[in-house]
Amino acid sequence: MSNGFDTDVLIVGAGPAGLVLACELARRGVDFRLVEQRAEPLRASRGKGVQPRTLEIFEDLGVLDAFNAVSGAYPPLRLMEGDKVLGERPFNEQVEATADIPYPNMLMSPQWRTDAVLREQLSHLGGHVDFATTLGAFIQDGAGVTAQLDASGTPQSVRTRYLVGADGGRSSVRTGLGLAFPGEAMDQPRMLFGDVGVEGLARDAWWMWPSAAGTVGLCPLPHVETFQLMITLAASEEPELSEAAVVSLFESRTGRTDLRLHDPTWLSIFTPSLRLAEAYRRGRVFIAGDAAHVHPPTGAQGLNTSVQDAYNLGWKLALVLQGVASEALLATYEAERRPIAEAVLDISGAIARQQGSAGAQPRGRQTQQLDINYRSSTLSLNRGRPDRALVAGDRAPDAIYVDAEGRRRRLFEAFCGPQFTLLAFGAVDLASPGDGPDVRVVRQPADGPVALAYGITGPAIVLVRPDNYIGLIDENPAPTAVSDYLSVALQA
Ligand SMILES: Cc1cc2nc3c(=O)[nH]c(=O)nc-3n(C[C@H](O)[C@H](O)[C@H](O)COP(=O)(O)OP(=O)(O)OC[C@H]3O[C@@H](n4cnc5c(N)ncnc54)[C@H](O)[C@@H]3O)c2cc1C
Repeated sequence: MSNGFDTDVLIVGAGPAGLVLACELARRGVDFRLVEQRAEPLRASRGKGVQPRTLEIFEDLGVLDAFNAVSGAYPPLRLMEGDKVLGERPFNEQVEATADIPYPNMLMSPQWRTDAVLREQLSHLGGHVDFATTLGAFIQDGAGVTAQLDASGTPQSVRTRYLVGADGGRSSVRTGLGLAFPGEAMDQPRMLFGDVGVEGLARDAWWMWPSAAGTVGLCPLPHVETFQLMITLAASEEPELSEAAVVSLFESRTGRTDLRLHDPTWLSIFTPSLRLAEAYRRGRVFIAGDAAHVHPPTGAQGLNTSVQDAYNLGWKLALVLQGVASEALLATYEAERRPIAEAVLDISGAIARQQGSAGAQPRGRQTQQLDINYRSSTLSLNRGRPDRALVAGDRAPDAIYVDAEGRRRRLFEAFCGPQFTLLAFGAVDLASPGDGPDVRVVRQPADGPVALAYGITGPAIVLVRPDNYIGLIDENPAPTAVSDYLSVALQA
């Protein structure tokens, strides 16, 4: 690294947001350093619900097969009173895959395994996590940020062009920037969460014991021996986080002294709150994930939203650092992502108020994150497009088509990778691209299945951003339409 810089991007925190950002930068050849204060990864199941849109991102990142190997479907909810079954219902209605939505169902994986899948991919891409390395103070100027680290007790000073705080709900980056974190401590009971072994209980259901004293749940986690335990706490309750105290609380609430809870690997008390940072950026320092927004786990949104923050920021930072885009592109990160977090707070807050923070109830399409769009972004441009269901800013849907060699292909295969993808429908003339970003061109007939999926009826182009949202739809494209769009969008 030259010009007095030790790295281009210092990422603080190796949770899902930090790891996805690191993978995004690594696969684009951007120099970064990822630091994590913990000496080793946290073995906690907390963010276990992974939404359909995140599965699509995992496919693009090349980790979907590895994630599928450690995850599973949600089991049905079984409502209990002691050892009596009161009823049972599916957690979520299982939906068949369609050509445009290949992964329609939320999957479950303990978060520590999802994190491990991302870490492994990072290592394939040549990156790694610097564990036992804590960010202290930092100061920025016009050219970069100087950060103080404590690396296993050894102080280090790091000069970086950008710093990203993916450092969780108690973010010291957010605090260091002086960003307010307004919101509310919710009027909802605190919850004890944990990972425990359970003897005497089948693993075929998410067991719930609702009661006036508060709900108790045990959810079997896929491909591991443990269950995720959740116990609603009364306002005055301050249980010790020990095996004996948790066993006693579980037995007194459920009456189930025949079940043996043992060997907790994680115990934690969660206090629900809804908070959103007043801004996602000051100068050369950004925040992402829980550092920018916190809310109850109801609706399974936190990890998923954190992954998408990083997915949105990664390609933009890379293009700016590679000199392909101007700094102005970075302003679209907050403009696009903060309104999404506002909506997520509304959703998870509403579910928590309705169901309590345990919130183990079926959820609808609104939580799947497939309908997130950036329609009002400055990066979204519709040309010659009458009102249609699909417009610029929307998620680019998958589609199935047959290629020139007669092979059945999925459009998402073409989207995989760090580039833009240009769908060129019919006989459109395209000027050769200049020095801009990588654009993969996929030619399609104007009356084929992909055109149908995109609502295209004649010669047209659709430019799909690296994060697989539609940037441009042009139904009467000039040969320079793509470079014209990119020169405005990237302001290079
Ligand atoms: C009980 C529970 C259940 C949940 N269920 C779901 C669910 O089903 N689905 C879902 O989407 N989400 C769920 N969530 C939320 C999810 O766990 C979080 O939203 C997610 O972990 C946020 O990821 P992140 O990378 O932003 O932050 P984190 O995962 O919190 O990672 C931040 C990292 O930064 C590190 N760090 C902090 N400060 C420093 C520093 N100064 N220097 C270096 N490193 C630092 C921390 O050690 C940590 O490893 C749940 C959360 C809880 C508690």
